[in-house]
Amino acid sequence: MTKTASSTRTSGPAPTPARTWSEVRPARRASIPEGLWLRCPSCAKMVYRRHLEANLNVCPECTHHFRIGAAERVLQLADPETFTEMFTNLQPTDPLKFKDLKAYRERLIAEQVKTGQIDAIRAGKCFIKGREAMLVCLDLTFMMGSMGSVVGETITRAIEAATPNKAKGYAGLPVIIVSCSGGARMQEAGLSLMQMAKTSAALARLDDAGGLFISVLTDPTTGGVTASFAMLGDVILAEPRALIGFAGPRVIQQTIRQELPEGFQRSEFLLKSGLVDRVVPRANMRTELARLIDYSGR
Ligand SMILES: [Zn+2]
Repeated sequence: MTKTASSTRTSGPAPTPARTWSEVRPARRASIPEGLWLRCPSCAKMVYRRHLEANLNVCPECTHHFRIGAAERVLQLADPETFTEMFTNLQPTDPLKFKDLKAYRERLIAEQVKTGQIDAIRAGKCFIKGREAMLVCLDLTFMMGSMGSVVGETITRAIEAATPNKAKGYAGLPVIIVSCSGGARMQEAGLSLMQMAKTSAALARLDDAGGLFISVLTDPTTGGVTASFAMLGDVILAEPRALIGFAGPRVIQQTIRQELPEGFQRSEFLLKSGLVDRVVPRANMRTELARLIDYSGR
């Protein structure tokens, strides 16, 4: 929400030519994250980047969980050098020739150059504390982790590859999907909405075959991702204070015309409401995943 506010302020012609210092300073502050020090958005203290990285990108002062990309998430969860990436031959296309402020095709190329990734996802087999698993991580750094055809197809193929098959004597693998997403990718319109049904159907087949799916929700998990696979876990874990919801709080507030309760749409609130099974700090996530795999006998 704050992002939209700042982008409307910086983009387009300014309504008045004169600018005050209060308008200039936030832009300067925003450039700090590139350097050695950065300001924690939660406690506003200055944090030394090296300390933050050594602490799994969790603020040492207030335990605020910073947002991280898929590559880093894989490094944090998988045993060293055990992750084998799969389904990397999928390429995003632009069948609708979609254009908003920028053509979708150009936007894709710019994002691929910026992140070095084909799309907003990484999936593959790995070991977590010695237990083999199918690990899928959405990537927030690529178009806000939005779910287009490539993201949906990668998730579906990962689930299918991990689904037990009795006839073939294949026991399957536990599926772990770490979500962080702005929702369905609007540039792919209906095609991205179909991914919701496709991923959910694949999970239903996994469930019928007796497979295990652990869903991990991180900040933010919203829109079509929350409305499909992310909420279908046999076990649903969430990182502390992650924003999890379908529509944004402002939209809901305007629709129902009521004050929203404190901590609305945060992990802890969802835990109380029964939508999340456990809130797990980043440092404990590997242990928790390994324990759940053992517990389910997979
Ligand atoms: Zn902090």
